Amino acid sequence: MDDDRQLKRMPRIDRCVKNKLAWWLSPTCLLCGGAADSRGICPACLADLPRIDNPCSCCGAELGGPGCCGGCQRRPPAYDHAIAPYRYAWPVDQLIQGLKYHGNLIYAYQLGQLLARAVAASLARQPDVIIPVPLHPGRLRQRGFNQALEIAKPVARVLGVPIARDKVRRIRNTPPQAELPGRRRRGNVRHAFAVPGDLCTDAVAVVDDVMTSGETVHAVARCLRAAGARHVQVWVVTRA
Ligand SMILES: [Zn+2]
Ligand SMILES: [Zn+2]
Repeated sequence: MDDDRQLKRMPRIDRCVKNKLAWWLSPTCLLCGGAADSRGICPACLADLPRIDNPCSCCGAELGGPGCCGGCQRRPPAYDHAIAPYRYAWPVDQLIQGLKYHGNLIYAYQLGQLLARAVAASLARQPDVIIPVPLHPGRLRQRGFNQALEIAKPVARVLGVPIARDKVRRIRNTPPQAELPGRRRRGNVRHAFAVPGDLCTDAVAVVDDVMTSGETVHAVARCLRAAGARHVQVWVVTRA
């Protein structure tokens, strides 16, 4: 990393450490400012979050009732099943945008706590490792952190599962999926990921912040399967 870039990153990291310390000394609800425990969102705000109540048993999309959605029946995803507790809607979308575009790393901690809580409530099988969806090195230098990794850290701590951060690499710097029409999303990420070495693991959980069409996690899961993973779950905070 060149010196200019490193200097640009410093104030943001400093600010985050300061915010984190202040918040840990007296935790308040991130959404209403009221009293909260160390998980950071008060019970009233927690109850108001845009929860997905009847998810597709495969991809986690919101359904009217139990079962598997038409999309998954027509084209089963490469992963076994996805846990996505919330819709990409207020106020969770604001936490994700605050994390990704304003570097509020404290939000990653909260989003991770929310995700860990949802996963713990519906976990069918404990994975051997958690794999955050990687950013391309160019994007990582720009942003200074990978939001999927930051969200995965508290999840890993709560569930006692290690993070494997170099098992999957992003080898193509693709435009963000949200900026593309649905039909171009599959091609955009099809060859974007690779598993460079031995996977040496059987059951993995892929973690990300948002799942839109699902093509990104599908592409990561395909790579993991090709490298020998037999059980792949996807844990994302929200579904758009
Ligand atoms: Zn609150
Ligand atoms: Zn589905």
